[in-house]
Amino acid sequence: MKTKRLKKLGVMFVATAMAVVMTSVATITANAHDSDRWGGKTGYNTANLRFNINSSALIQGPSVTPMVNVGTYSIVRCDVQGWNGVSRGVNITDVNRGLSSGTNTIQVHGVWRRDGVLGYVDVYDSNGTFLTDTTRNNNGDWHRAVVFMNTNHDDWLQGGVSNSVGTQRVRKTFIHEVGHVLKLRHPTCNSRAVMHQGFPFVLGGNNSLITPFRQHHDEINLRMKWGSL
Ligand SMILES: [Zn+2]
Ligand SMILES: [Zn+2]
Repeated sequence: MKTKRLKKLGVMFVATAMAVVMTSVATITANAHDSDRWGGKTGYNTANLRFNINSSALIQGPSVTPMVNVGTYSIVRCDVQGWNGVSRGVNITDVNRGLSSGTNTIQVHGVWRRDGVLGYVDVYDSNGTFLTDTTRNNNGDWHRAVVFMNTNHDDWLQGGVSNSVGTQRVRKTFIHEVGHVLKLRHPTCNSRAVMHQGFPFVLGGNNSLITPFRQHHDEINLRMKWGSL
C-alpha cells in the first residue's frame, strides 16, 4: 500500500516536472519579436494577394539544367500559397505564370547574378520610389513589392550540392521571399525559422537555425503582424 502510494507520487512528480519543462519550451518558442517584422499595414492587401511568376524566373541559361523549370513551378506554386491558413490577414488567392500587374499582384522575375544572392525583394512607396533596406523599415506601407530570383544555376549549387538539394534551395528561397513580401524580416533571435538568411543545406557549414520550410516562429511572427486566424 505504501509502495503504491510512493509510486503514484513519483508519477505525479514526473508529470509535474514535464509540465514545467513543456511550459518553458512553449514560452521560448511562443515569443514573437518586433524586430522580426516590418511596419505598416496598407499599400497592398495581404489578405487578397496574387503572385505572377514570370517565365524569366523559371528558365535557366541555355547551357545548364533548368533549376526552376516547369516541373518545379507546380511545387513552388504550392509553396507560395503555403503561407495561407496561418493568419486571417494573409491570403494568397492565386499564383500564375505571366506578367499581369495590379495593386495586389506581386511579380516574380528572374535575374542573372554571380554573387551567391539567390533571391531578394525590392519594395517601393506610393510614389514609386525605391526603398532601401533602411528606408523600407521606416516606410512600412510599401505599395509595390517585386521578387527577384537568381537564375544562375551555379549559385544554387554552391558547396557542390546535387540538383535535388539545389531544388530544395529554390523552394526555401521562394518561401523566404514570400515571407518578406508579407513583411517578415530576418529573425534577430535564435529560433529556427525559414526567414533566417542563408542556405539550409550547406556542406561543412550547416546552420540549423536556417530551415527549408516554415517554422512555428515564422507563423507566430506572421500572426503578430497580420492577426490570428
Ligand atoms: Zn524571433
Ligand atoms: Zn531574406
